[in-house]
Amino acid sequence: MQGSIAERLAQIQVEIDALNVAHTVTLIAVSKTKPASQIREAFAAGQTHFGENYLQECLTKQEALTDLDIIWHFIGPIQSNKTQAIAQHFDWVHSIDRLKVAKRLNDGRPDHLPALQCCIQINISNETTKSGLLIGELEGLATAFSSFERLKLRGLMAIPAPTDDLTEQAAQFTAVKKQFDELNAKGFNLDTLSMGMSNDYSIAIQAGSNMVRIGSKIFGART
Ligand SMILES: *Cc1c(COP(=O)(O)O)cnc(C)c1O
Repeated sequence: MQGSIAERLAQIQVEIDALNVAHTVTLIAVSKTKPASQIREAFAAGQTHFGENYLQECLTKQEALTDLDIIWHFIGPIQSNKTQAIAQHFDWVHSIDRLKVAKRLNDGRPDHLPALQCCIQINISNETTKSGLLIGELEGLATAFSSFERLKLRGLMAIPAPTDDLTEQAAQFTAVKKQFDELNAKGFNLDTLSMGMSNDYSIAIQAGSNMVRIGSKIFGART
């Protein structure tokens, strides 16, 4: 891959700006499997939001980066025995797909920290193997957040089924945006649509995404 981390971040920003959408887009640098030194390099280039999938790996890196004011996003599947540590060590969680996990995150969020910023992950392609909540259960879980004082529901996250068909990709992102708009029409006040990764973030942003999670295009391929 060409260029430094700083150059790749700048290039992605140029591409996002060129889309010329009316809303601002937050870039999360997904640093899973990559060393703390590369996070430090990206931070030095102005990147403040980082996403990680694996709790233990991330905690080790966080210990090496306590001098940096990083906003940490947990984006991986959540095992319920990890909820307390996730609630203690992250600012955002994108991958909430069931009530039990939300309840445990709420119980585990320390009082001295602000509310944990949350997205519900939805399974837009209705694949039984995929993580994420089915659409029919979305409003019920979103409603339950009102009883969780330590959680703030910010929006929706989705990872569409992989496809090379650009029309199909756009259709899946648009379907997520539709759910987002419908919840807001019912008064939920959501402001975050977390969708788009290295290979599809332009299409996601054009469909309304305002938070993209990009890994390999910044840090190189993972082994
Ligand atoms: C790994 C991962 C990403 C980043 O994927 P890239 O294709 O490397 O950009 C984004 N979101 C989630 C949930 C991931 O697990």
